[in-house]
Amino acid sequence: MSAASEERVTLLRGAWVMAPEPVRDGAVAIRGNEIVAVGRWTDLRAAHPDADVRGSAHDLVLPGFVNTHGHFSEGLLTGIASHFTLFEWLHALIEQVKPHTDARVARLGTLVSGIQMLRSGITTANDMFVTDPRPEGPVTPAVVHALDQLGLRGVVSFGAGDRGGRDIAAQFAEHEALREAAAASRLSTFRVGIGAVPGQSEEMFGRSIGYAVDGGHGVHVHLQEVREEVTAMRTAHGRTTVEHCAHEGLFAAPTLAAHCVWVDRNDRALMAEHRVGVAHNPLANGILASGIAPVAEMRQLGIDVGFGVDGAASNDAQDFLQAIKTGAILARVRDQQATAMTAREAFEIATIGGARALRMEDRIGSLEVGKLADVVVLDGTGPTLASVHDPYQAVVFVAGSREVKEVWVDGRLSVADFEVVNVDPREVARESRPVTAELVTRAGLGHLSALAGQPRPGTATPGATRSEAAGR
Ligand SMILES: [Zn+2]
Repeated sequence: MSAASEERVTLLRGAWVMAPEPVRDGAVAIRGNEIVAVGRWTDLRAAHPDADVRGSAHDLVLPGFVNTHGHFSEGLLTGIASHFTLFEWLHALIEQVKPHTDARVARLGTLVSGIQMLRSGITTANDMFVTDPRPEGPVTPAVVHALDQLGLRGVVSFGAGDRGGRDIAAQFAEHEALREAAAASRLSTFRVGIGAVPGQSEEMFGRSIGYAVDGGHGVHVHLQEVREEVTAMRTAHGRTTVEHCAHEGLFAAPTLAAHCVWVDRNDRALMAEHRVGVAHNPLANGILASGIAPVAEMRQLGIDVGFGVDGAASNDAQDFLQAIKTGAILARVRDQQATAMTAREAFEIATIGGARALRMEDRIGSLEVGKLADVVVLDGTGPTLASVHDPYQAVVFVAGSREVKEVWVDGRLSVADFEVVNVDPREVARESRPVTAELVTRAGLGHLSALAGQPRPGTATPGATRSEAAGR
């Protein structure tokens, strides 16, 4: 008898169990870190009379949400600079913060964002950490350690780029440190991050492809989020970024592409041909006014699409239920058809769609025997979900993060009784405040605060602010 089979069985009971086909008055049996049975409550209870029982006859039991795109590097930067479009925002905020993003920021940013993710039912987070390699040592392993502490499954990457004279060797040293940290962790796996293709020299882009393909690693990259990127790439290379990636061989590695808002018919055909997975970030794309990704067109071609919350500096909330609802709504607004994205489609994008986009569908994304026990219990005993007519519409359009009662990751409770269990959230907030204040000062972001008004792009020059800050 294996150690796993000696462990106790826990039954998670619900009015609806959102297995691939919903089961009314059902249950999920978990043992160790695995789902061992899914079915009707009466049958599972009879088979496991001694099991611990969680959930209730009114709750909803669903697979954990797969967040396909985010940046723990932005965890301390919520509610700032939301009046810029992407390139302005990168210049005014991200490029200023990058040189000051150290291991403390990595740890606290991951905890601050990760707590909110768990509270909204996320059990897997695909992250791209954006920083400059630092002389005192690698930054990104702190992300892995914080995810293990929280009990949140991670797919971790470092958003590398050498534009602006950055040292290529230092970028690869950061990749390696993160890869080693993930290999030693319980919950994280590694991908090769490419901040954006125009952010890498041809030499570095070629080495990144070699590193991913030769190492058998997946890739996490931003792709055609805004029209400006497509224009710049076609001007420089005569190809869109998607065409360039296909031409250079990037897609030989399993690739997860964030955004893909400005992909045309030819781009989409190439993505389908190379099985490029897509992270659709409706909230960040809306706040930065990037546009609405052609999700239906991509899915029609068989492209795997998941939802992402994106980083806290662009979304700004790290709430997956907001992202799901907004994704379904934007698809309908775009097509002016209420059938453009059904609640069931949105639910599938949020779960198994994201798992497929990350090529993890054999382990996560649905409640099936043999998969990892990443499970969410939504409270149905309160007024919000007192009447569930259709479990998909209940999850997508009715539920909020306040209904997230329990979150199980890898067979262990990470949220119980509506709160994270492995860290003290108020202590994390208390610890983060002075670190955020220091980061904002060092990066010279004072002109972006409310007291400084809301300058239009061009009326404040972050470059000048940075040199003033450096001169202090
Ligand atoms: Zn991003």
